[in-house]
Amino acid sequence: MSVRVRYAPSPTGLQHIGGVRTALFNYLFARSSGGSFILRIEDTDQQRFSEEALKDLYETLDWFGIRCDEGPDVGGACGPYIQSHRFDIYQEYARKLLDSGHAYRCWCTAERLTAVREKQEQEKSSYKGYDRHCRDLTAAQQEEMKRENPNPVVRLKIPLDGSTSFSDMLMGEITRKNSDINPDPVLMKSDGYPTYHLANVVDDHLMEITHILRAQEWIPSGPLHVLLYRAFGWDPPVYCHLPMVMGKDGQKLSKRHGSTAVREFREQGYLSEAMINYISLLGWSFDDKREFFTLQELEELFSLDKINKAPGVFDYKKLEWFNGQYIRMKDARQLKEMLIPYLVHDQVVDNPPSPQQLEILDQAMPLIQERLHLLNDVSEMTRFLFCDIPAPPADQLIPKKHDASSTAEILSSSLKLLEPLDDDSVDRLEQEFREFCTREGIKLGAVLMPLRVAVTGSTISPPLFESMKLLGKEKTLSRIEAAIDQLRQKEQECDE
Ligand code: GLU
Ligand code: ZN
Repeated sequence: MSVRVRYAPSPTGLQHIGGVRTALFNYLFARSSGGSFILRIEDTDQQRFSEEALKDLYETLDWFGIRCDEGPDVGGACGPYIQSHRFDIYQEYARKLLDSGHAYRCWCTAERLTAVREKQEQEKSSYKGYDRHCRDLTAAQQEEMKRENPNPVVRLKIPLDGSTSFSDMLMGEITRKNSDINPDPVLMKSDGYPTYHLANVVDDHLMEITHILRAQEWIPSGPLHVLLYRAFGWDPPVYCHLPMVMGKDGQKLSKRHGSTAVREFREQGYLSEAMINYISLLGWSFDDKREFFTLQELEELFSLDKINKAPGVFDYKKLEWFNGQYIRMKDARQLKEMLIPYLVHDQVVDNPPSPQQLEILDQAMPLIQERLHLLNDVSEMTRFLFCDIPAPPADQLIPKKHDASSTAEILSSSLKLLEPLDDDSVDRLEQEFREFCTREGIKLGAVLMPLRVAVTGSTISPPLFESMKLLGKEKTLSRIEAAIDQLRQKEQECDE
């Protein structure tokens, strides 16, 4: 029997790390076992459905290169793959359960259900939930109820005693007393819409799903689903509930920790390769050592027995590190193309960039590629090469243990040392500066810091001497001169 797995998102919000991890593990399991990966849209909750979320789902899977073998866009033998297009099927299967006596119609009005709940609360009753009022009504009683509410819901009969178990590949045997299962859950709402439980189980069966890999938060639904499979006379698939994804503080990953929506990571300039690699390690490992995997490698190497029981910890810094590594590995020309939209967006270059700007970018690529963590850092890192920068205020130029006057001296001496900038090698210039510092008894940092701020307008930049060389002698020297002016002015103000 060949493996068939599915990702079954409800498009109610943007795709987040947890969801994508589920998608990825299902996809990788299908690929590594020669099976099929199915995408199914669970959009039965029309109130929470969002068109935007659906679009985001397709974009995200596309960006990651996770392609489905069957799904809304590619079709397949078990379609349609969008639950809102399958309502007739759910009607049919709800009727089967009614006919076999595993389900029943409930005509209770919302008012009645509220009254029941309030009474339970007042009496501090240990029994909570629907009181099974309609479970064993006589025909006459049913007629009477129908008059009050012509649109019944369909409920599943949960056995009154005993317990239900299912076995999870990771968690082992999970057993729940039937009396602890929410009494008689609704399968079909009064408007004819199925609930998640019915649609999910019917579809997993009809789509011949062999393994269910999904988040651990669905474990509580497990026993109920198993009861549904039995009511239909079907065998449940194999369950493997995936380890939680947590923040470093041990709490479930949430917006409190930082971005969780894939779209936000994408906009900040994370590469899909880096994210795939990192997400694959959230609850799975190949061995204790290897960290780097391409999607193709994962498609071969992934296996369920290497899924960890322990939660996966989402470490933003580590992801950023991965991203930097993948940026280094990228083909420079490809990387350049990816950077241009960020530079255009931040108005560092024209739209489209001029030939001169493209040439500057070409020359800067080796420096940028070595240093970027995120693509959207590029603007800050290179703005000084493309744009005029205002002379920095004196206070930003003065290193520790120096004042305006000594900083101005340092920059003036630097001007002389930089005379051969265009003709000399960067290594030699650096050497000259080192020697200068030794001679004068100044720390190298106290020279480089004001120079860097003067030339690039920032305390962080690509390597300084290379940056100056890229910028060209004329601009470099005039920026240093402007900085000296600032310092001299400050000096005067202090003297007055
Ligand atoms: N539609 C459910 C979700 O949004 C699917 C859960 C499952 O995989 O059964 O996660
Ligand atoms: Zn009822």
